[in-house]
Amino acid sequence: MQEDTEHDNRITGTINTNLQKIFDDSTIAFYACDAEGCLTYFNKAATDLWGRIPLLGKEFWSGAWKIYSLEGSLMPLEESPIAKLIKTGQPQEKSEVRIERPDGSFRTLLIFPQPQYNDKHEFIGAHNTLIDVTGQQKDHVKQATLSAIVESSDDAIISKDLNGTIASWNSGAERIFGYSEAEVLGKSITILIPNNRLDEENLIISNIVQGKRVDHIETYRVDKLGNEIPISVTVSPIKDAFGKIIGASKVARDISDRLNVEEKQAMLSAIVESSDDAIISKNLNGIITSWNRGAQDIFGYTEAEAVGKSITMLIPSERIEEETYILEQVKSGKKIDHFETIRKNKAGEEIPISITVSPIKDGHGNIVGASKVARDVSAQVQSQVAMEKYIKNLETLNTVGKSISENLDVQGILQRVTDATTKLTGAAFGAFFYNNMEQEGNTFKLFTLSGAPREAFDMMAMPRHTEVFLPTFVEKKVVRVDDIRKHPSHGKNSPYMGMPKGHLTVVSYLAVPVVSKSGAVIGGLLYGHPEPGIFTEEHELLVVNIAAQAAVSLDNSRLFEQVKSLSDKKDEFIALASHELKTPLTTIKGYLQVLAKRETDQMSRLFLNKSLHQVDKLNTLVEDLLNMSRIESGRLDFNVESFDMREMIQDIIETFSYSIESHTIVATMGNSPAVIKGDKQRIEQAVLNLLTNAVKYSPKANKIYVSLEIVGVNAIVRVKDEGIGLTPQQREQLFTRFYRAENTEGISGLGLGLYLTKQIIERHDGKIKVTSEFGKGSEFFFTLPLKIKKLKKEKAV
Ligand code: ADP
Repeated sequence: MQEDTEHDNRITGTINTNLQKIFDDSTIAFYACDAEGCLTYFNKAATDLWGRIPLLGKEFWSGAWKIYSLEGSLMPLEESPIAKLIKTGQPQEKSEVRIERPDGSFRTLLIFPQPQYNDKHEFIGAHNTLIDVTGQQKDHVKQATLSAIVESSDDAIISKDLNGTIASWNSGAERIFGYSEAEVLGKSITILIPNNRLDEENLIISNIVQGKRVDHIETYRVDKLGNEIPISVTVSPIKDAFGKIIGASKVARDISDRLNVEEKQAMLSAIVESSDDAIISKNLNGIITSWNRGAQDIFGYTEAEAVGKSITMLIPSERIEEETYILEQVKSGKKIDHFETIRKNKAGEEIPISITVSPIKDGHGNIVGASKVARDVSAQVQSQVAMEKYIKNLETLNTVGKSISENLDVQGILQRVTDATTKLTGAAFGAFFYNNMEQEGNTFKLFTLSGAPREAFDMMAMPRHTEVFLPTFVEKKVVRVDDIRKHPSHGKNSPYMGMPKGHLTVVSYLAVPVVSKSGAVIGGLLYGHPEPGIFTEEHELLVVNIAAQAAVSLDNSRLFEQVKSLSDKKDEFIALASHELKTPLTTIKGYLQVLAKRETDQMSRLFLNKSLHQVDKLNTLVEDLLNMSRIESGRLDFNVESFDMREMIQDIIETFSYSIESHTIVATMGNSPAVIKGDKQRIEQAVLNLLTNAVKYSPKANKIYVSLEIVGVNAIVRVKDEGIGLTPQQREQLFTRFYRAENTEGISGLGLGLYLTKQIIERHDGKIKVTSEFGKGSEFFFTLPLKIKKLKKEKAV
């Protein structure tokens, strides 16, 4: 308190001129004001700080200033510490503010505002000491910034003294080397140095001692786990305030990634170099900028010959606009994928290639050129062509094979084979010659011919008798001659000698034997062409294949011929036998009928009638056989007349009912007549066949259902039983001749009834079908067109 009073006195009381002198000369800014804030004193340092000289006794303490808080916000003047002090008369904390001077520059100040009281402790004014800390602040910021940079750096930033002891360690160092700051501070830097590199450290230190900086040396250091890490280090001397070197700062950058990139780069160039594809880059003017070995192989130019030249040297003139298109695409950032085109090599030969062109971008994403990968597709194109040809050949082979195997007529087979192979081989003519020595006639020696007139061969000897083709016919050998004129026996023997002038001049020959399964040579296929070298190995193979198929078919057709003639003989026999049987049967029946009429003895009559019934049965069988052979030989005749089916079926049922006792026939006939046009007797036979079967194959049932209905233009007749039924497989074979199902033991029959029935119905433009369930019964039904349909048709015509 005592002191304060003294202090007050010095300022406001009688001015101590000595003191004022001290203030005036002080480098620390100082001012005083009265209780209203009006300036009563300021020194020079204060005006320097303010940047102006205020009017003493007139201006208030702060009029021209703008004050900011340290955070940067503008501080209302009445809230400034000195204003508050004047307003309250109370002392204020020392504080730090920023002021803006009239010239716009800033100063950071530490201010110490103090109140002044008189003896009575009344507030009479204030004084303020202003300490300019602007510079210090800057250093502080700089420091903070630097350490922030050091801390946030990805690089390891380490400082060490001249003994190599680590003095500072940033988080980058921790990240790269794995040690925390605490673990390494005070340790020797050598913990980071691989044993075999300790010399490096001595070298670095000796440079540092001399004040030299060590720039970007690439070396290895070890991390906490003992892994060697490739790094790039820069070591700089650290000097104290007096310029003395006291240590070194070390910035280490982990370059593993960069090395990886380099490795990748190396790998990529190795790939580019070793690629069989041409990998070329060019700029946007189409000038070649790089050229790999593949490019050299494909196009024939060396790298030196190609780089710097225009890419157009590879483009055939008629395709030059392709390059314009490609460049346009590339410039707009588009990629061209597998564009198949033609380029030319150094020798001017055209090569089919497939190219992929992609834009090349610089680091800023600007398109600066294009990379081009070109693949020579000649081999592919060739193999594709070969493949297409092969497939075509296969297809032909297949169709020829199919058609000859389906064919059982010898002439047809040979003609097809000759035609197809002549076409396939590109021969001018093709022919099949029988290997038949006895047959001398031309028709026999030359069976089929393709591409040349028959007369062309008139004068020719049998190929079998020529030296060239003998091996084909005797030793089953394929003979392929590229140029018959160069053949040893050319000019001396047939076929050349035998060739009349103006007739076939043949130079290329191909002969392939057709060998039967038995091993005998059936004949030979012979092809010729007036130009040399026409027939290839491929042709040979193809013909050999077809010849083999033809041989099989020929064998089959021979077999068929044999079987057919056997079967013809059998049919002939059946026809003859049944005809021969028919005559005595008719006679027997006649006598029996006469006897039966005359006979009065009951017993004898019964026997006679039974005999007559068996004769009828026998007659039917013989009739069936006869009809079958008539059908087979196409001699089944019809006596066509118009008749009413309804009437006919009613008659059949009536007669039939008499002769069977086991079954009742349930008939549904409708009221209207069903007139059709046809052979009444045969249709009657068809219905009777179905009825007989229904009875025969339903031994345990006692009803047969017969119906006739008219549906549209057809009459439909159904015969249904509740008998043994049919399996689906049986149903399929039912209508073939001599077919009898396996479950018919004990039931007599020849397997001809349904066959004949079907023939009869179909010959009348009808259809016959069956539905059946095995074990439950069957229903046979057939349709026949009503006569009305035909009448209508006739009218229409
Ligand atoms: P067949 O009666 O003389 O044997 P078909 O040609 O009339 O000759 O008949 C051929 C075969 O069809 C018969 O053997 C029999 O197995 C079968 N079949 C024909 N009709 C019937 C039927 N209604 N039910 C079951 N099976 C039948």
